[in-house]
Amino acid sequence: MAHCPAFGLRSTQVLERNGEVSFGPARKREDDTTEKLLERRLGEAAGFMSASLPVLTFHALDDRASVISCAPRVFRQGVARLHARGYLTIPLSQAVAYLRRGHRFPDRAFVLTFDDGFQTMYTQAFPVLQHYGMSATVFITTGTADLRESAARLPTFEGRPMLSGPEMREMQRGGIEFGAHTLTHTDLTRLPAERIRIEMAGSKDRIESILGTPVTSFAYPFGRSDARSRETAREYFSCACSDTLGLLSARSDPYALERVDAYYLRTTRLFALMTTRLFPWYVFARNVPRQLRRAFTVANFVTRDCPLARGMRPTPRGARGGRRWSG
Ligand SMILES: [Zn+2]
Repeated sequence: MAHCPAFGLRSTQVLERNGEVSFGPARKREDDTTEKLLERRLGEAAGFMSASLPVLTFHALDDRASVISCAPRVFRQGVARLHARGYLTIPLSQAVAYLRRGHRFPDRAFVLTFDDGFQTMYTQAFPVLQHYGMSATVFITTGTADLRESAARLPTFEGRPMLSGPEMREMQRGGIEFGAHTLTHTDLTRLPAERIRIEMAGSKDRIESILGTPVTSFAYPFGRSDARSRETAREYFSCACSDTLGLLSARSDPYALERVDAYYLRTTRLFALMTTRLFPWYVFARNVPRQLRRAFTVANFVTRDCPLARGMRPTPRGARGGRRWSG
């Protein structure tokens, strides 16, 4: 039997052969609640606090040659490795609480986020997270349709099926948090103030109607925000995620939280960097050329690298293809 150091959960043996990870039957929970076990684990880690915390961003877990895809095999093996090294997830809300109190973060902790609400969150990621007792926050692009019908599925996005109400509720019962990601996945920096409110409040209301609980976190589409959209986010949410490549630290703005996109962890070897002391340097090294590109890129071109942008709205004149995006 393998023993999860993060949650005190017992699971069947995790088989790792030729780089492939397989799972046994679902594990049984011991007497303590997940919350108590998390508190205990965090207490144990209190003597080994860290000045920084990675917030990882995934989109779809599939084998397509797309910048929003992460291979399910890479995800499974990466999470298995993190678990084996004693890493644990903390909810985004908990990470922001540490930030607001000026506390350092638990050692070997990280946050998982999934943008957009693709169905692979339920079919590929959720079973793995359940197996290891890990949490995540899923930011949902709701579409504009009425989702009060209990079995409604979110409208197809980027040619991929999205989550349904029952799937979201099942994951919520399994410890997954949900945040808002607008109605139409539009670049908020290009919208008038009233449209920003509609995008934020509308998606928040729709998700709350599905889950029956408050939605308190937000992720900017494409990670793009400006002073106006961040100010509006403060009215509706307790935190918001950007696409700024970096780790959370005492300098982080709760309304422009740094993240590490799965693009930078797209192979098993890159994912494994997370468990080494090289990881903060790797993130820093990848951010330097990224910032330089942005500094020398005409602002109008920046968001056009995103395939979702082309999917959700007309491609602006002069748009060009690109290799990289986040959001
Ligand atoms: Zn997105």
